[in-house]
Amino acid sequence: MKKIAVIPGDGIGPEVIGATLEVLERVGKFEFKSVAMGGNAIDKYGDPLPAESLKICQDSDATLLGAVGGPKWDNQPPEKRPEKGLLGIRAGLKVFANIRPAKIFAPLASACPLRKDIAEKGIDFIIVRELTGGIYFGEHKYFTTPEGERAASDLMQYSEHEIRRIAHVAFKMAMGRRKIVTSVDKANILNTSRFWREIVEDVAKEYPEVKLNHLYVDNASMQLIRVPSEFDVIVTENTFGDILSDEASQIVGSIGMIPSASLGEDNRGLYEPIHGSAPDIAGQDKANPIGTILAGAMMLRYSFAMNNEADKIENAVDSVLREGLRTPDIFVKSEGTKLITGSQMKAAIIEKL
Ligand code: NAD
Repeated sequence: MKKIAVIPGDGIGPEVIGATLEVLERVGKFEFKSVAMGGNAIDKYGDPLPAESLKICQDSDATLLGAVGGPKWDNQPPEKRPEKGLLGIRAGLKVFANIRPAKIFAPLASACPLRKDIAEKGIDFIIVRELTGGIYFGEHKYFTTPEGERAASDLMQYSEHEIRRIAHVAFKMAMGRRKIVTSVDKANILNTSRFWREIVEDVAKEYPEVKLNHLYVDNASMQLIRVPSEFDVIVTENTFGDILSDEASQIVGSIGMIPSASLGEDNRGLYEPIHGSAPDIAGQDKANPIGTILAGAMMLRYSFAMNNEADKIENAVDSVLREGLRTPDIFVKSEGTKLITGSQMKAAIIEKL
């Protein structure tokens, strides 16, 4: 039986995770192990990611995370902040590829801020972001220039194996989709980008069926808004991916709807919604559980190769949206829509399953 480490976390985390476990139990048999991480772990153990928690995640077949953090822990020193747990678990699980789908569910097309004729062409692409290299992980320093002025710098560096392995993730994903990879860089200026392009082109030779395009990141940010339907798989380095994936999340609607996966060399991954712990709505049954439920579906697909079960969950979500059921974050008053709570949304999805 597949072992899943479950991190409910803080704020709305336990609500959306509870809903997701019930949904997963409808499509398969799993062994869940609940793990402390984030603010609750600081309160209980004085550590945002206790060693025992990380060990359980490392020994599991996949890890499912709600969200961590909240105002209660905002003024803690850096090593005692919930975010420290997030960085720690990504490093501890050695996940280097962040996968974020950007898909517009037809019933929610009106929530897309783009022009109707653009949204109607359909939006369904994936951003594959390098997660453990680049400027976020290079040397950061403050210094004084020879002229005596204060200055700061951050080093951007990529090694060949880091680019090669993320490129393979993108090409493999494209093989199961529309077979188009767009590699995003800034090769007109940055050496790291010229190197990135060279290695991605080399990896592309192993996937002759996949069409490879290159875009400069400034152009990519425009094209995502102008012609989002033309993208299939976007692969890019850490910082560019951080920015473009937030842009993509706005194109497809509510933050409460979007899942993400972080993958490493083996099939074990870390799955979570893209939203945070939403302390403003915690405990009020207003949280949309769909982002986490879809993260559960991604886990079945990418870690367990349970594609049929993943399809079932995604179709159930699509059906309840088609019926007009809406949590407050995606509710637009109109004919055919009905405002419901987070737990009613969960119940409706389970009913479909
Ligand atoms: P947030 O994503 O928690 O909330 C932003 C807004 O979106 C809020 O108005 C919230 O109510 C709404 N929202 C978020 N998820 C929702 C859902 N499922 N259903 C309905 N509405 C939803 O971002 P924030 O307010 O910037 O951060 C709150 C806390 O979460 C902070 O402590 C932050 O550090 C933490 N955080 C954690 C993660 C993570 O665990 N991966 C990610 C981002 C932020």
